[in-house]
Amino acid sequence: MTTSDLHERFAASLMPNYGQPRTALTLGRGCEVYDADGRQYLDLIAGIAVSSLGHGHPALVKAVAHQAATLAHSSNLFINEREVELAERLVDLLGGDAKVFFANSGTETNEAALKLVKRAAGPGRHYFVAADEGFHGRTFGALALTGKESIRTPFGPYGMDVRFVPHGDLEALREAVDEHCIAVFTEPTQGEAGIVPAPEGYLAGVREICDDTGAAFVLDEIQSGIGRTGRWFAHQSEDVRPDVITLAKGLGGGLPIGACVGFGRYADVFHKGDHGSTFGGNPVACAAALAVLDTIEEEGLLAHTAVMGDLLAEQIEGIEHPLLEGQRGIGLWRALTLTGPHSAHVQEQAAIRGFLVNAVAPTTIRLAPPLVITPEQIGVFIEALPNILDAAEAAAAEEAT
Ligand SMILES: *Cc1c(COP(=O)(O)O)cnc(C)c1O
Repeated sequence: MTTSDLHERFAASLMPNYGQPRTALTLGRGCEVYDADGRQYLDLIAGIAVSSLGHGHPALVKAVAHQAATLAHSSNLFINEREVELAERLVDLLGGDAKVFFANSGTETNEAALKLVKRAAGPGRHYFVAADEGFHGRTFGALALTGKESIRTPFGPYGMDVRFVPHGDLEALREAVDEHCIAVFTEPTQGEAGIVPAPEGYLAGVREICDDTGAAFVLDEIQSGIGRTGRWFAHQSEDVRPDVITLAKGLGGGLPIGACVGFGRYADVFHKGDHGSTFGGNPVACAAALAVLDTIEEEGLLAHTAVMGDLLAEQIEGIEHPLLEGQRGIGLWRALTLTGPHSAHVQEQAAIRGFLVNAVAPTTIRLAPPLVITPEQIGVFIEALPNILDAAEAAAAEEAT
């Protein structure tokens, strides 16, 4: 089966909501993946910050295979040991006094958080605050909180009062939040907006505003969590504890799982029957997540991510190219910023040369490689980058004529 065969079959059988992806992947090993035509790529996007251990990591493979052979599913009519173990591990990593609800994706995890804070709020509270350009998921509740207008507005109205403020703007947030606000939803750094950080001290400021008004502070760490920034969780860069955090993406290392964590009084808000998921806490997904957490610890991947992230940033900064404006980000979560809206060309020219990157916005390329990437692999990409940018510029110029 070649890539072009798969293009045809994809177009005939799958809804066109993702357009037509160019590359069909068939195999992954470490940071390398192979397409249906046998071509090799260096994976610098990791399935959107998901494949944190790379592909085919023996610890993940073993944990998943063993659990699938032992007990693949239990439902929530029964306890399974893996979900208890994983919840304990997460609570431990987060510093205690917390409880976990497991879902199967990011958006579902935010839906759980929405119901949780709504349940916890007093009767006088009726609106939410979220950030312009933010992203919280594609289901109705999470979409209503999503600041990116192009994806939110076509599906409204939502029957939810959501007020948007500029990302990272504490003055605007203070203005928007009062004692009628149910919760503030925010990302620490906006992923889908193009790895856009908030100013230092932002999370502490959100905490203060929520404390002053009694609104819940929900931090969406779906993309930033589980080592991506060089810490277990991005908010650990400030001495701040949100009321609720949501996790997904990198947690399962490629298996679908999400976790909504409530701290303090938010740990025990849900009562029997308030929420549920047939697959949530699935033993195979939990076994995968446990393998991810163990491996991050055993292989020292938090420190490695911080060092590799700095190396990547430094090497990008060292490149002079008219199409390259610079870079931003933290850990192995970086944006290349371009001087023109040519990210689609950069993504395509990178793929042609054997590198998978993501054109997250017209002037932004997102890099979120597996946390196990090596200095040599970063070097290979950096060496190829000027040629990729040259080719992208040429393609953009050709398109303009
Ligand atoms: C990806 C993402 C989501 C949605 O996750 P899905 O698994 O695609 O539903 C929500 N919030 C953030 C910050 C994300 O990056």
